[in-house]
Amino acid sequence: MKQEFNLIATAAAGLEAVVGKEIRNLGIDCQVENGKVRFKGDLKTIAETNLWLRSADRIKIVVGTFPARTFEELFQGVFALDWENYLPLGSTFPISKAKCVRSKLHNEPSVQAITKKAVVKKLQKHYHRPEGVPLVENGPTYKIEVSILKDQATLLIDTTGDSLFKRGYRTDKGGAPIKENMAAAILQLSNWYPDKPLIDPTCGSGTFCIEAAMIGMNIAPGFNRDFAFEAWSWVDKDLVQAVRDEAESKADYDVELDIMGCDIDARMVEIAKKNAEEAGLADVIKLKQMRLQDLKTDKINGVIISNPPYGERLLDDKAIDILYNEMGQTFAPLKTWSKFILTSDEQFESKYGSLADKKRKLYNGTLRVDLYQYFGQRVRRSVSE
Ligand code: SAH
Repeated sequence: MKQEFNLIATAAAGLEAVVGKEIRNLGIDCQVENGKVRFKGDLKTIAETNLWLRSADRIKIVVGTFPARTFEELFQGVFALDWENYLPLGSTFPISKAKCVRSKLHNEPSVQAITKKAVVKKLQKHYHRPEGVPLVENGPTYKIEVSILKDQATLLIDTTGDSLFKRGYRTDKGGAPIKENMAAAILQLSNWYPDKPLIDPTCGSGTFCIEAAMIGMNIAPGFNRDFAFEAWSWVDKDLVQAVRDEAESKADYDVELDIMGCDIDARMVEIAKKNAEEAGLADVIKLKQMRLQDLKTDKINGVIISNPPYGERLLDDKAIDILYNEMGQTFAPLKTWSKFILTSDEQFESKYGSLADKKRKLYNGTLRVDLYQYFGQRVRRSVSE
């Protein structure tokens, strides 16, 4: 079976550079592209990236790329790839996704069917099975994806399974949760470091607080879940276990963190508490029912991260205007605190009452949102302190 892989980590639009940085932090060289980051590695790399990447969606193996302007070219191109190095006899291998963009081939169901036929034929040939007799598919699953972009076909195998944003700690989510990997990316885009206080005054199900605590304690985001590749028969289970054990040993549960989440809705606070407990962080994160208008603190140099309701999702327009205005008034006295506010409301700054130092376009699912960034004033310590 294969030892070295061409890999991609897929990422939401706007988050590719964050994913790239995370991959480099694992000691892996990579190239950032639109929607993905490319890198190479072995099975250990697949295990480490799945376990450790906080902001990526999925890790996929690139089996090959070739021009495909006709169904014949597609068939021959797929057939020529070394599927036998990935798929043992008996594998289940659905063509789970076919996507055609700006290409002559555009009928996705046909692309899917041709791809399947070509992989089947290749395996029949390699394993000396008679053509015409379907292959038995009752073993572990290898989800194959085919994407054709500008007449160039790319064949991929998903190693992740459920998207990486599913960490395994979410028991319930409330009306408008932010995805875990998006929350982790925003924390990394912010100027929060684990030695600074962090408050999410509209914490909902607690996603920012939980992700921050996991970053602060160096807990691998995937520690609580499995990945598709772990079920593959040729995957060395000891090696994967060693990667998991190493992750466990790298976690620092003693680090002091100051992370607080509040929400006006007591039911959401209960959900956040349950999620924090599920993540093993119940003692680490302070969660309480409170209106953001009542937020006061004497602490300095902290970071506020908030994903308040937006018109499309939870509240009507008038209520949003008032909420954002009160938010501005409540946060204004916290001069040394940085504030990062994620909303789809393009009038946010005028309602909030001050212009952001920086704005960054992101997508919360398919909804276009902006991260409004207000940097806190630096407090210089006097020499005598
Ligand atoms: N990021 C959260 C979702 C936030 S949705 C998550 O991942 O789950 C917005 C939240 O703001 C809701 O839970 C809502 O109850 C809360 N909220 C609305 N008005 C508020 C106010 N005045 N003070 C505090 N929280 C408020």
